[in-house]
Amino acid sequence: MIDDELISISLLSHYYFCKRRTGFLILEDRWQDNEYTSEGTIQHEIVHSGGKEKRGRKVIERQFYVQSKSLGINGFCDYIEFFYDESNKLTEIYPIEYKHGEVRDNLEYQIQLTAQTMCLEETFNLSIKEGSIFYINSHRRFEVNIDENLRNLTLEGIKGIKDIIQNQKIPLGNYSKKCKKCSLYDECMPKLNKDISSYMQKIISDCEKL
Ligand code: SF4
Repeated sequence: MIDDELISISLLSHYYFCKRRTGFLILEDRWQDNEYTSEGTIQHEIVHSGGKEKRGRKVIERQFYVQSKSLGINGFCDYIEFFYDESNKLTEIYPIEYKHGEVRDNLEYQIQLTAQTMCLEETFNLSIKEGSIFYINSHRRFEVNIDENLRNLTLEGIKGIKDIIQNQKIPLGNYSKKCKKCSLYDECMPKLNKDISSYMQKIISDCEKL
């Protein structure tokens, strides 16, 4: 985290990918890069290398720091387009989050974008209705309507992360398709984890019948 008192926005993306992985990151500071995360890091470095740019009434900012004191979050936006009118008044903000891989509908990325948007709205006092996720490999934008549902899920995610910090407990996880791509697979042992969880549930259920 950049500031100890604020939650990093990138954790929200992890949280909606897997709560257990978020627990590992927060409480045990564990991170392992694998082929998927390393490729993403390299592609992000290329995106961030462009710096600030002015194109007519549009200003582009890359790796732009954002924060919201009211939500308790902070982080960086990959790419933002700021639009100004003739009197140089800011009229529109359009955030874009870059992701590697092919275009897909991933909730965790949409939550990350929504959290960035909510920070920008607080800072610039402007309403933002839309942003995009740009998939580097397919070179396509996936447009995201920043609606009430995404905003509520973002708030729930922030609360969930605060709960993990407060309880100091790594949540249990369930083995699923996405575990195959998770860089924490070896540490997590998700199949065993699921067995333990089922086993514990059976014991609790057996005890309740006594
Ligand atoms: S291996 Fe699966 S359950 Fe474990 S942290 Fe990764 S995604 Fe979560």
